Amino acid sequence: MPRFAGPGTMMRLPAAASAEGLDACFVGIPMDIGASHRAGTRFGPRQIRQESTMIRPYNMATRAAPFDSLQVADIGDIPTNTFDLKKSVAIIEEHYDQILQAGCIPLGLGGDHTLVYPILRAMAKKHGPVGLIHVDAHADINEHMFGEKIAHGTPFRRAIEDGAIDCQRAVQIGLRGSGYSADEFDWTRSKGFRVVPAEECWHKSLTPLMAEVRAMMGDGPVYLSYDIDSLDPAFAPGTGTLEVGGLTIWQGLEIVRGCRGLNLVGCDLVEVSPPYDPAGTTALVAANLLFEMLCVLPGVQYRT
Ligand code: MN
Ligand code: MN
Repeated sequence: MPRFAGPGTMMRLPAAASAEGLDACFVGIPMDIGASHRAGTRFGPRQIRQESTMIRPYNMATRAAPFDSLQVADIGDIPTNTFDLKKSVAIIEEHYDQILQAGCIPLGLGGDHTLVYPILRAMAKKHGPVGLIHVDAHADINEHMFGEKIAHGTPFRRAIEDGAIDCQRAVQIGLRGSGYSADEFDWTRSKGFRVVPAEECWHKSLTPLMAEVRAMMGDGPVYLSYDIDSLDPAFAPGTGTLEVGGLTIWQGLEIVRGCRGLNLVGCDLVEVSPPYDPAGTTALVAANLLFEMLCVLPGVQYRT
């Protein structure tokens, strides 16, 4: 079958009805009603799948061959309620509970960043408070947005309040832009997070940073949440809340590849907005970052 043909699953993988029997799965979370500015991320999962068709099974750079040892499938999309954000959050948590009960590691295709709140709640029920690697232009720790507790700018504050994150093993990378007060980047610091603003990443490899992150995380469970707007708009214009002076694609690859050896219990790639991604390049980057996440999951074999 030509790569451009056949069912449009992530990486042309088999479609599965559930996570049962899988070591890892790709799962779409199509939603954008948590977004505060430009919408469109409801189309993110479908576009990421579309742009994933050219990804072959072997990682030429890292020698990872994830399909040698892992059973992986695309389990489709979580049926969010596009008229009700709070109901959508509950639906996501229920579906993640099921995925985790099956012993499967989920790789989520977003969707706006609200989705990480119910995911982290499900993760903490299964694993206890998880370590967190959060890559983003924004801290996403607002107390509320327009009076609402649930929105794409609040998920990490809600998750911290619920005790879902081990704040001594948590890092935010790529934060930048204008704000309302210094507290936006200092609040997680006050909770124990390490915060690495984008300026500290400019002009250098992030491989040394990731060695420090691995030392911080130890053997405990770690969740990786990757907001595509962490990348500079030059690399990833197709998203809702752009900030200039961001990370490069190769720094993004260094971050994900630097997660090798961690006890990763789940990952997501969020905030891809296809209506603002005319050439599909933002979704292409997202698809490749998701492949790189698959390549660093526990149990992946590396061919020597
Ligand atoms: Mn975000
Ligand atoms: Mn963001």
